[in-house]
Amino acid sequence: MTKIIIVGGVAGGASAAARARRLSEDAEIIMLERGEFISFANCGLPYHVSGDITQRDALLLQTPQSFKSRFNVDVRIFSEVVAIDRQQKVVTIKNVLSGEEYKESYDKLLLSPGAAPIRPPIPGINSANTFSLRNIPDMDRILASISQNKPQHATVVGGGFIGLEMVEALHQIGITVTLLELSEQVMAPVDLEMANFVHQVLVQKQTDLRLNTGLTAITELPEHLELTLSNGEKLTTGLVILAIGVKPETMLASAAGLELGVRGGIKVDEGMRTSDPDIYAVGDAVETLDFVTAQPALIPLAGPANRQGRIAADNMLGREEKYQRTQGTAICKIFDFAIASTGHSEKSLRRQGRAYEKVYVHPGNHAGYYPGAFPISFKLIFDPITGQILGGQAFGKEGVDKRIDVLAVAMRAGLKVQDLEHLELTYAPPFGSARDVINQAGMVAANVIKGDERVCHTADILNISPEQFLLDVRNPAELTNIGAIPGAVNIPVDQLRERLAELPKDKEILITCQVGLRGHVAYRLLANHGFKARNLSGGFKTFQITTAKF
Ligand code: FAD
Repeated sequence: MTKIIIVGGVAGGASAAARARRLSEDAEIIMLERGEFISFANCGLPYHVSGDITQRDALLLQTPQSFKSRFNVDVRIFSEVVAIDRQQKVVTIKNVLSGEEYKESYDKLLLSPGAAPIRPPIPGINSANTFSLRNIPDMDRILASISQNKPQHATVVGGGFIGLEMVEALHQIGITVTLLELSEQVMAPVDLEMANFVHQVLVQKQTDLRLNTGLTAITELPEHLELTLSNGEKLTTGLVILAIGVKPETMLASAAGLELGVRGGIKVDEGMRTSDPDIYAVGDAVETLDFVTAQPALIPLAGPANRQGRIAADNMLGREEKYQRTQGTAICKIFDFAIASTGHSEKSLRRQGRAYEKVYVHPGNHAGYYPGAFPISFKLIFDPITGQILGGQAFGKEGVDKRIDVLAVAMRAGLKVQDLEHLELTYAPPFGSARDVINQAGMVAANVIKGDERVCHTADILNISPEQFLLDVRNPAELTNIGAIPGAVNIPVDQLRERLAELPKDKEILITCQVGLRGHVAYRLLANHGFKARNLSGGFKTFQITTAKF
């Protein structure tokens, strides 16, 4: 009979416990959780603050009793594992209420302690009404502070997905929000121009968005908090939510002499085994290999934690399952919109010195003639020679999840951008188009790979040289109503064939239209007439969002 001890009773830990029991009726399984709750919906916490999830109980997916009844797992809450004796194969458990300690032996040990919110050592970080959000007690404290102090204004520090979800939640309950973000953009996994769509929404929703601005001190005054910002400004606020990222909880593992990886997470192999073959680790605390680069990565998401928990359970019970790397597929709701991504961003590929090309498309989420269509802005990043899909990002209203999910599956299956045009996806007017966003992005990228189109980007337009000529093929009214790139010569695409003589043969022609489609038609026409040209991928719409300043 295998005796399994699991440290941490939420995403990774609870998945492992349930899987272990499904595989073996004989195993003795003990799940130790230092907090009061197991298997709660951490991802749902912001939505209870907002009031979208009305019942707090809905966040409690299992209780120790329900876990015992269904899975016969001995769940011990308020039980913190404070030491591992690897020689004796024993853990020391502290009852966090009474302070008492006792020991428990194991055959196999699984660590799923998660990651703790980063709390920078700035003056006043422990002030009243200054919170992080990781678990149910954190959420309760935030809600209690709101109900007692009725703040008119809150400050969210950090524009990752937890920060953004909290901005929306607080806005929804009538609190004015300032969002402080130290870098030039929110949502680090996407590139700046895609994050600009989010910046636009935040500003439209009256969020006081302050990019390139950090928090340097918190001062508690009798009636409110005074924040000092990195630019020296002072800000008066009633509530601070710190959401500047998380740090893997590795203290227990490192104290036990388990190896940590280069990114600071617990090092595991493909079977989720640590440097001790009887100790496994999963979830936010571990580093796994990045799907694209095969380099160690820390990607704290619920899907990977769940999958890893299942694999660790399999392996603890004698199977040989392998975790197949993390793609970082993620999505975040921002008011009525969504931003999602999978794989690598352009900036992370640039950091690694990896060659890539990118294309943008902005088709409707479904047929334009069916009411309610809204564009999905889709960025596809790929290897310029082989067509390997390196990443994708999308912003829109409905259907953003579907497109990024399809792309994530395509990546995992090893499909190339040239394969995307062949994907047969669901279509009826309320749901999509006969040529789906994914098909369209694939066709555009395949054109680039096959040499049927040369593309240029906003940076090329901004750095235009005297040897280049900027041509806008939209209709004149569009330039007047929507805007135009200064210096562009306007010849509508439908007049281009007759007006070729107006174009210089000795210059490279950079073509722009609204979203890149008419630009492609113009590009083919010019290429077939012997002109040297490039088409601005994603057209003026991409140029506009890329150059927008927030
Ligand atoms: P956790 O779920 O954090 O569980 C670790 C548990 O271990 C904790 O309860 C902790 O108390 C316990 N523990 C730690 N040390 C010990 C010890 N020594 N002894 C006993 N117990 C211990 N991910 C997404 O993919 N999508 C989302 O929308 C999303 N939204 C999120 C929203 C919020 C507000 C938060 C906080 C997270 C969100 N996440 C989301 C991230 C996701 O919740 C985590 O990736 C996932 O929970 C990680 O699982 P885990 O088992 O590694 O850690």
